Amino acid sequence: MVYDRNNIFAKILREEIPCKKYYENDFVLAFEDVYPQRKIHILVIPKGEYTDLDDFHRKASDIEIIEFFKAITHVAELLKVSAQFDGYRVISNVGSNAGQEVPHLHFHLVGGEKIGRMLPKRNDYG
Ligand code: AMP
Repeated sequence: MVYDRNNIFAKILREEIPCKKYYENDFVLAFEDVYPQRKIHILVIPKGEYTDLDDFHRKASDIEIIEFFKAITHVAELLKVSAQFDGYRVISNVGSNAGQEVPHLHFHLVGGEKIGRMLPKRNDYG
């Protein structure tokens, strides 16, 4: 998939539209999901132009990959949801079967309360 520079997260990175920023460094931006699914719902995105996890692993440099995954756990520590507290979940939807809506790689970090089953039962989803 060709990267679409008009996707909403690209616009957030260019500060064309606002976000509730939680954390930022040279490689990543973390901000609140506009429709939180749990008490804590943060999106962690790389600053580079990658459509999804596959694209990221194909094209990103080692330093970008390392810094991205380090940032996810760093954000979990800042949020006090890391494994030493009550735990959390990270989710990354890749492509249409997974329901990926925004074509810029993002990890959802959810927590702050019981999260529930990892997936709805097979017959419960539409
Ligand atoms: P996905 O379905 O994995 O692509 O998730 C996209 C996520 O982006 C959803 O959870 C949306 O609620 C969230 N989202 C969409 N637009 C914005 C925005 N402007 N600011 C923050 N989160 C957003």
